[in-house]
Amino acid sequence: MAETKTQADFRPSPNVARMQPSSTLAAMQAAMRMKAEGVDVVDFGPGEPDFDTPEHIKQAGAEAMRAGQTKYTPTGGTRKLQEAIVGYYEREFGARVEPSTVMATAGGKQAVFNAVVTLCGPGDEVLIARPYWVTFPEIVIFAGATPVFIDTEATGFHLTAEQVAEAITPRTRLVIINSPSNPSGRVIAPREFEKIMEVTAERGVYVVSDECYLRFVYPPAEVFTAAALAPELRERLCIAGSFSKTYAMTGWRVGYSVAPAEWTREMNKVQSHSTSNPSSISQAAAVAAFTSSQECVARMLAEYTRRRDWLVEALASVPGFRCLNPEGAFYVFPDVRGCLGGDVKTSADFADLLLREAQTVVTDGAGFGEEGFIRISYATSMERLEEGVSRIRRVAERQRSEVGG
Ligand code: PMP
Repeated sequence: MAETKTQADFRPSPNVARMQPSSTLAAMQAAMRMKAEGVDVVDFGPGEPDFDTPEHIKQAGAEAMRAGQTKYTPTGGTRKLQEAIVGYYEREFGARVEPSTVMATAGGKQAVFNAVVTLCGPGDEVLIARPYWVTFPEIVIFAGATPVFIDTEATGFHLTAEQVAEAITPRTRLVIINSPSNPSGRVIAPREFEKIMEVTAERGVYVVSDECYLRFVYPPAEVFTAAALAPELRERLCIAGSFSKTYAMTGWRVGYSVAPAEWTREMNKVQSHSTSNPSSISQAAAVAAFTSSQECVARMLAEYTRRRDWLVEALASVPGFRCLNPEGAFYVFPDVRGCLGGDVKTSADFADLLLREAQTVVTDGAGFGEEGFIRISYATSMERLEEGVSRIRRVAERQRSEVGG
């Protein structure tokens, strides 16, 4: 049959063939299957807030709909949203951002995508610190460029200027920085960030700074945006920002980039021929998020802090676990190599074991480039955290006694 023949002939393009499906998605699907069967699953997988979008932001979306703001907007977003973004950086960070450098996107993910594909192609290398957000290398591969990983285990997963300087070659086109980091929760100190920008500026290398978790930082770590750097350090910088995490708006799909005008022009071109503007309704909601009280963010941060403090302490006494204190975002990324042994050879096997024996979903670190680790999201209630950790403890204790730890 003709239809069968078409399917048999189907081959993705070489760049897409080199891409891997999302590992975080695989865990999510397994959990969904079990939940559908009525199993009481503790889900530490999601990379999204468990909070609802604050009411005043929803209201702004609803009002936009009623007022007929339901049509195309300019590709890079409404003037109102661009102005709200400019005003936010001015008010919150004293940073001067030109409107011509701002572009609204369908989430921070699209901002990173636009930035990478407009800049990188075959022959280019892109530096990415390990562990990394799963999507970074895949976008680089999609662009036809080559991801090159920087090992940061020696510095406790803190990317340093020295590591960046050592990794740069004549082929390096771009460095992708993500602070606070998903999955490690590590935060680059402002002075170190500045030094990284000095190194890259000196060598003519571009930088994408993924600041999706910008607001979720736990003192003494400091909230820092690269937008606050001196203009000469921002000439090759694209900031990827998002409303998803900060305002619990993952489903609204709205984010933005701040990049030099020439780069922004090219990104507009890509977006105009693919997705066009992000939803007009979501843009109106995002304006409300950036221009009204930031009290809702403070409340969410206080709750994440409480959960982090509890979780890190609880995991410290789980046999075979070694855990760095997250300085930002809402993930812990424990080293579970102490629990490996017997049939449980990899962190993926251990994640599997947790799912089978304890109905607890965690994400395998290998997908983030760090075999031997797992990611636990604490964007879930205290009650679920307590339940999940007690289940994990049971499995870890048994595993340790079996492998003789
Ligand atoms: N960057 C990082 C580091 C993330 O963890 C995520 C979400 N998981 C994103 C970007 C993208 O988020 P969104 O597209 O929803 O803004």
